[in-house]
Amino acid sequence: MKLIYEIGEEGRKLDLFPELDVEKYELKANKRNVELHLPHVSEQELSRHFTNLAKRTHGVNDGFYPLGSCTMKYNPKIDEEMAVLPGFTNVHPLAPVESVEGCLEVMETLQERLCKIAGMDAMTLQPAAGAHGEFTGLLLIKAYHESRNDKARTKIIVPDSAHGTNPASAVMAGFEVINIPSDDKGCVDLDGLRNAVGPDTAGLMLTNPNTVGVFDKNILEITKIVHEAGGLCYYDGANLNAVMGQCRPGDMGFDVLHINLHKTFATPHGGGGPGSGPVGCKEFLAKFLPGFTAVKSANGFDKKYADNTIGNLRTMAGNFLVMVKALTYITTLGKEGIKEASSNAVLNANYMRVKLSKTYHMAYPVTCMHEFVMTLEEEHKNINVSAMDIAKSMLDYGIHPPTMYFPLIVHEALMVEPTETETKEEMDHVINVLKEIHEKAEKDPEYVRSAPHTTVINRPDEVGAARNPIVAFKF
Ligand SMILES: *Cc1c(COP(=O)(O)O)cnc(C)c1O
Repeated sequence: MKLIYEIGEEGRKLDLFPELDVEKYELKANKRNVELHLPHVSEQELSRHFTNLAKRTHGVNDGFYPLGSCTMKYNPKIDEEMAVLPGFTNVHPLAPVESVEGCLEVMETLQERLCKIAGMDAMTLQPAAGAHGEFTGLLLIKAYHESRNDKARTKIIVPDSAHGTNPASAVMAGFEVINIPSDDKGCVDLDGLRNAVGPDTAGLMLTNPNTVGVFDKNILEITKIVHEAGGLCYYDGANLNAVMGQCRPGDMGFDVLHINLHKTFATPHGGGGPGSGPVGCKEFLAKFLPGFTAVKSANGFDKKYADNTIGNLRTMAGNFLVMVKALTYITTLGKEGIKEASSNAVLNANYMRVKLSKTYHMAYPVTCMHEFVMTLEEEHKNINVSAMDIAKSMLDYGIHPPTMYFPLIVHEALMVEPTETETKEEMDHVINVLKEIHEKAEKDPEYVRSAPHTTVINRPDEVGAARNPIVAFKF
C-alpha cells in the first residue's frame, strides 16, 4: 500500500480549517528552515486512503480478540458518546475551578466508585497507565516507610509469574526485587514467601487472579505473612474483569493497587491510545497521593492536594476523557451489571477452556477466572509446531491470536481471554477453528508453520521491526 505522500498530485488540496474569526497574527520570525511537506491529495483520496488503512487493522469491531491479560472486550458506544461531549473535550486543564466543577464531579464520582469496587479509601486518577500506576503505588509504599524512618525496607517481593512491568516498576522506584517461585498451580508458594520476608521487606506485588488466570486461595494468609513482617501489599489490578463486583482487593488485605481503566473500564487496551491507571490506597497512605484528588466542597467541587504528597506523576489531572468513559461504563452497568459482567467473563473463559481441553493441553487444568493458558510444548517437541505457528494460523480465519509466550513460567504459552461480551456462537466458532488448526498441524505441519496464507504480509521480521523501526518518510 502506498503512503499518503506517494499518492496525489502537486496542487491538489483540501481546506479543513474554518474561516479565521480572530485577528490574524504574523509570526515575527520564520523559524522553519526546511520546506513544509504536506500531502497533495483531494478529500476523496484522503478518505479512501484512511478507509483502506482501517480495513487492514483488526479491532474488537472486526472480530474475536482473545488477547489474554489485555481484556479486549466490546466497549459500549455510549461511553464514547459521553467522552466527546464538547463540555468535556473543550475544557482547559488550567481553567478556574468554578468553571469546571462538572468535570471535578466526574472525577470525584469515579474515585468514589472505584474505591467501592476495589475496597480502598482514597484514589488518584493521575497515572496514565498500568505500569505508571505501579510506579506510583510503589512510591507511596516508599514514602510510608520513609515517614516512619524505617530505612532498612528496600526490597519488593515479586512472584516469578508476575507481569514484567512489576519488577521493572519496583526497580524504577529504587527497590531491589526478590523473586519467589510459584507452586504447581501458578500460585504463591507460602514457604517460599515466608523465607523471603524480613526486616528488609518493603512490600509484595501480586496479581490475583494471577497471570495464569487462577485465583490464589491463600490470599489472606499471603497478605498476613507480609504484614506481620512489616511490609505492605500491592495489588496489580490491571485485570479486574474477573473480580469486579465479586470480591475486593482491599478485603484480601491489600494496602494499595492500580486499576487499568484501559482494560476493564471501557477503553480498549493497546494501540497507543491514551490509558489511565488510577491508584487506590487505604486511608493511612492517602496523605502521600500525587497530584490532586477531586473533593466535594461546601457548594460544589474542589481540588485537594495531599499533605505529604509524593508530587506530580504527570501533568494536570490525568487522561480525563478516559475517566469519563469509565464513569459512563460503571454507571450504565450499575452494581448488578458490574457483577454480572465479571461472572460472564469467568463463565466464558471456562466454557472455552473445557471445550478445548480435549484438543489442547491446559497449563493448569483447574477452574480458571477470566482467562486460561494452553501450552504447545508437546506439539513443539513432537511435530515442531509452535504456539507462534498456531497463532499465525488463526489470522487466516480473521481471528486475533491470543497472547503468546506469556506468562514466562509456561513454555509455548497461548493465553486466551474471551471476555464477557462474546456470544456462545462466536466462541463455538473459535473453538472449531482452533480444533481445525490443530488437526491441520498434525496432518500437514508445514502448512501451519508457513501461515498466515491470506494476509497482506506473511511473517514480518518482528525483531527487526522492533529494533530498527522506520517511522519517518524520507523526502
Ligand atoms: C496490562 C498489565 C499491566 C500493565 O498495564 P499497562 O497499562 O500496559 O502499563 C500490568 N500488570 C498486568 C497483570 C497487566 O495485565
